[in-house]
Amino acid sequence: MLTDSHAHLNAPEFDEDREETIARAREAGVTRIVNIGFNRETIPTSLKLAEAYDFIWTAVGWHPQDAKDMLPEDLDWIEELCKHEKVVAIGEIGLDYYWDTSPKEVQDRVFREQIRLARKVGKPIIIHDRDAHHDVVETLKQEKAAEVGGIMHCFSGSWETAKLCLDMNFYISFGGPVTFKNARQPKEVLAQVPLDRLLLETDSPYLTPHPFRGKRNESAHVRLVAEAAAEIKGLPVEEIARITTENAIRLLGIN
Ligand SMILES: [Zn+2]
Ligand SMILES: [Zn+2]
Repeated sequence: MLTDSHAHLNAPEFDEDREETIARAREAGVTRIVNIGFNRETIPTSLKLAEAYDFIWTAVGWHPQDAKDMLPEDLDWIEELCKHEKVVAIGEIGLDYYWDTSPKEVQDRVFREQIRLARKVGKPIIIHDRDAHHDVVETLKQEKAAEVGGIMHCFSGSWETAKLCLDMNFYISFGGPVTFKNARQPKEVLAQVPLDRLLLETDSPYLTPHPFRGKRNESAHVRLVAEAAAEIKGLPVEEIARITTENAIRLLGIN
């Protein structure tokens, strides 16, 4: 009973064997996948995937890396799609200061517009934060994101940052990095996140867990993330799987 709360199975990396990849996830005990569409190209393909499989849902939003391409009509489009029964969140949205492919002020505007939309339609938000912890937290605070809450996806911040996000009704999601030997911080943060706010993800095809690091990631590998989380929390892996799935159901209504 595992949930992959963040995947990109519509990515071209899966064009040759998408069906088999999804079947492998099923066999590995994955009962729920949230796939993410984050720009003009990936929103339709993510929706298509969610429509084709009863255990796949989708979030739709505009990624900070693509912020410079978002037109006013795209925001209207996302709002319209929020009525779709398989659309469970707005995301991924946020700030990315690592790649810096869109100017910071444009990322900031697009992020704020989508938080406001989420509050308008009453959907949780899925946050992408790369090297922008301070500004992400400040923006969430200023835009009253606590009203809808959501997910800090593949969280890479400190425990201090995590606490601020927990206070704003966010769940903290961990992926492949918690399986890496040298990843001290995400393991320390995971150890402290309350069980009822913990989520697991793959971010497939990226962030592949140990021992497959360097290869393409897939949803079946969320089991490896669950095993790492179980070890850190000192709980059986079945317990971690059950709790994180219940958390995803509570937040996103994916049942
Ligand atoms: Zn992301
Ligand atoms: Zn992602």
